[in-house]
Amino acid sequence: MRDEPRPAAAAPDSMGPFSAPDPALPIMPAPQRLLRLLALLLGLAALIGGASYATFRVSQAMGLAELQLTGRHRLDLYSASLEREIDKYAYFPTTLGLERDVLDLLAKGERDTPLARRMNVYLEQLNDRAGTLSVYVLDTRGTVLATSNWRRPDSFLGEDLSFRPYFRDAMENGSSRFFGIGTTRGEPGYYLASALTNAQGTVGVAVVKVSLEQLEKSWATVEAPVLVSDENGVVILASVPDWKFTALAPLDEATRHTFDRTQQYNRRALNPLGVKEIAALDHGARMVKLPRVGPEMVSVFPVTGQFLAQSQPLPGTPWSLTVFSHVEPVREMAASRAALAGIAAVLVFIVLIMFNERRRHLRDRLAAREALQRAHDELERKVAVRTADLSAANARLQEEVAERIRAERTLRAAQDELVQAGKLAVIGQLSAGIAHELNQPLAALRTLSGNAGKFLDRGDLPTVRGNLTRIAQLVDRMGSLTGQLKSFARKSSGQPRPVVLQQALDNALALLDQRLRQSGTRVVSRLPAADLVAHCDPNRLEQVLVNLIGNALDAMAGQPEPCLELSGEAAGTLLRLRVRDHGPGLSDDVRAHLFEPFFTTKEAGVGLGLGLPISAGIVRDFGGTLDGDNHPEGGAVFTLEIPAADENRHD
Ligand code: ADP
Repeated sequence: MRDEPRPAAAAPDSMGPFSAPDPALPIMPAPQRLLRLLALLLGLAALIGGASYATFRVSQAMGLAELQLTGRHRLDLYSASLEREIDKYAYFPTTLGLERDVLDLLAKGERDTPLARRMNVYLEQLNDRAGTLSVYVLDTRGTVLATSNWRRPDSFLGEDLSFRPYFRDAMENGSSRFFGIGTTRGEPGYYLASALTNAQGTVGVAVVKVSLEQLEKSWATVEAPVLVSDENGVVILASVPDWKFTALAPLDEATRHTFDRTQQYNRRALNPLGVKEIAALDHGARMVKLPRVGPEMVSVFPVTGQFLAQSQPLPGTPWSLTVFSHVEPVREMAASRAALAGIAAVLVFIVLIMFNERRRHLRDRLAAREALQRAHDELERKVAVRTADLSAANARLQEEVAERIRAERTLRAAQDELVQAGKLAVIGQLSAGIAHELNQPLAALRTLSGNAGKFLDRGDLPTVRGNLTRIAQLVDRMGSLTGQLKSFARKSSGQPRPVVLQQALDNALALLDQRLRQSGTRVVSRLPAADLVAHCDPNRLEQVLVNLIGNALDAMAGQPEPCLELSGEAAGTLLRLRVRDHGPGLSDDVRAHLFEPFFTTKEAGVGLGLGLPISAGIVRDFGGTLDGDNHPEGGAVFTLEIPAADENRHD
């Protein structure tokens, strides 16, 4: 059994999932388990919080960086489109100086001349073709000599525009660019002015006013709000109409005074836009908050809230272009990524817990298996020890049994010897009687044979025949006597077989016939008519009967009318036979030692004290009992109970 291959200790699947926990394994107490659960929950919360926060921050930083990149691209794009729009007209005023009539008009400085009228028409046609707001020329004093809008009632023909900065700049520097609101029609526009010169010098200034409305309209649909502010911080172009002509920073008094003088913004209020800077980021970007400026939102995209503001100067102008990128999507994206990270953290946590549980489960199983193996080994060891003990005990027992058998054999041999000795003793007791019994017929034989000879001589043949017949009868009787003796004396086989009780009794009585007749004993036999058949060894049964009847005759010796009563009956699976005499009966002392070997009250040489113990042993071997008692009416009665043969059973 020890050589059997052990099952692999680490094979968890060989054990059922519902296997009972090994009570030998430590079980965690309740408070400890609670603490562990608390620690787990805290760990989970920390993991979720940490993962979400880190993801949020990283995602937001990445989103903002991306937003900045996009913002810069937009800045480049919008700046390029604005530059293109302005540059289209950059050389327009200068080209007017190539026109001789224009130079002549300015040189003469007269308005109501045919040349001036012709110039008006010329400039009108030029304005229509170029798609500009207006084209006009001023003399060196700043008076409008010819203009494209000469037909209109609000035409500024003849007006003095010397106060306009673009005029002064152009006179001083040769050219000028200026954004402003028209003084007559209040129309915002971009003024491009250029000094015109002839051989004598500067003769005047040519001005082209360009509308940037178209560009502005195209911006209205852009995703990110965009604005252009001038050197004063006033918003001159914006994708959100409400932002236009607002100030990015509050204007001081001196600036406002200048605006009044130059009428740059035609006395507009120029209220602050209210952009609140929250934080300055790298690359000049700012985090700002845009206020709600009007009730209606013209753009489908949000224009209020937190934005990333990025600005860039517009080349060739004192202006600055600013793009606002909405930060909210970045924050939303970061928040959803943080939530995802939180869920992932929970999943990781669950996986870790499951892994840990699995590991613990395996460890417990391994421990249980090892404990089981140890118990198994211990059990096997004990079994081996016990088996060895048992085999030793068994060997001892077998020896004892063999010893007993040997002793029993010896005992049985001794018993057989005793039986035989008993028989021989009986024969010895009988020998005198037998001798007498044989002597009588022998003497008769002698006489008869002698007489037969004499009668033969006389020729009395009938008497001879009669004598011979008598001789034959006597010989038969002697033969039968010696036959009975021989059969009594022979060693019995001990094999039980059906025995007719009457026959055994007759044989015993025949053996004792001489004593019976000598003592004149009356034998009263009360056996049922039907044969009682016992199951035993007949030879030994006869020996028992001879013993009992012999003892009865001994007890009644010297009585005038001795009487022997024999009675038999069937009692269930047994046959009961009683031998009663009319002797003195059994004294208390005799009764106490009745079946003890060598107990006798008879004279030395007469009794050996073996008859009853041997008889009791024989009956016990049959499976029956032998008992001696006093008869209520006097005398002793011996009761013999022996198994009945099958045909004689009454059960
Ligand atoms: P033994 O006949 O050699 O003495 P037994 O064993 O047959 O040995 O008998 C033992 C004793 O039992 C006898 O000596 C006698 O005293 C007593 N006993 C046996 N049978 C009778 C009887 N029928 N009546 C009176 N005493 C008896």
